[in-house]
Amino acid sequence: MSNRRIILAKRPIGQVDTTTTKLVDGPTPACAEGEALVKVGMLSIDPTIRTWMNDAPGYLPPIGIGDVIRSGGAGVVTESLSDLYQVGDLVYGVTGWQEWSLASETKKFTVIPPGMGFDLATAMNVLGMTGLTAYFGLTDVGAFKPGDVVVVSGAAGATGSVVGQIAKARGAKKVVGIAGGKEKCAEVVEELGFDDCLDHREPKIARRLHEACPEGIDLYFDNVGGEILDAVLGNIALRARIVICGAISQYNTMERPQGLVNTPMLIARRARMEGFLIFDYASRFLEAQMQIATMVLDGTLKHREHLVNGLEHAPDALNLLFSGGNHGKTLVIVDDAVQLG
Ligand code: NDP
Repeated sequence: MSNRRIILAKRPIGQVDTTTTKLVDGPTPACAEGEALVKVGMLSIDPTIRTWMNDAPGYLPPIGIGDVIRSGGAGVVTESLSDLYQVGDLVYGVTGWQEWSLASETKKFTVIPPGMGFDLATAMNVLGMTGLTAYFGLTDVGAFKPGDVVVVSGAAGATGSVVGQIAKARGAKKVVGIAGGKEKCAEVVEELGFDDCLDHREPKIARRLHEACPEGIDLYFDNVGGEILDAVLGNIALRARIVICGAISQYNTMERPQGLVNTPMLIARRARMEGFLIFDYASRFLEAQMQIATMVLDGTLKHREHLVNGLEHAPDALNLLFSGGNHGKTLVIVDDAVQLG
């Protein structure tokens, strides 16, 4: 059996292309004692993958040149020499951009319980890392309170769409999204139920934020960083909380990052700005998944998946996140026979 995989050939500047990532073939990895062989079915395409391609300090070491692109993914166990995994288990872990991966006791994968009543794409979206990020970022880091005026960037995307809907469902005074283009803004208001949505491709975002939130912003969930974060800082309310979840506007341009000028507003408004990583909440994932699953089942939480077919298209799928070409959670189907039981 062969194992097609995508490796990092060269560190990209800007978007990834065929000179920076390469599709190569090789043998399927052999399963040793304590390991399980996983047939990869679906990849989670996350903006952070682009940061791992840079030779820059981060929360994980950069992907090495010649190494498989690091990525979350789900698959089915086809062979097991470990007590942790049974043949037929559906598992989620760091599969990488490849057709076969190894799970082990040190490189642990999570067994996804059968009979959840959701398909795999839904499970990898709202019940997966982005849904969990939205939940803990809003409720825990952002210390959301009913009556808050909430602003969220990347509002039509996987994380932002869930943040805004949970805030609305839990009694926000107002939820304002920021998204790219008229079509996405209309979707955020009409389909996801936000009160307003500002198009970041139009000029004067700071002034439009002031018009949308004249009483100031209590909670900002930041997915993009850069100019939009700075514009929000200029419009925060007393004791505002700014949740630094992501900075996608900076990931492709890390050699010339954009600075902030409005940080003195943190002093004037006695506000707090805090970053977080979802992995730190692993012991509480089940709590969030129960809440999110309930909202999906009762129709309070809408979700959308952007499916891209074929491992070879994973680099294009990653680029969609930066061009704004994705509509919802971006997933690559590697083998559509792998499904939740
Ligand atoms: P999304 O589904 O939201 O897709 C990314 C979106 O970002 C695009 O659709 C685009 O939306 C927007 N975008 C891209 N470039 C820019 C730009 N220059 N300015 C403004 N918006 C831009 O992705 P995810 O939900 O997977 O991730 C959202 C953020 O959350 C990322 O920053 C990611 O790194 C972060 N994250 C953080 C985690 C953590 O543990 N801290 C865990 C998971 C995600 P549009 O078309 O509207 O411009």
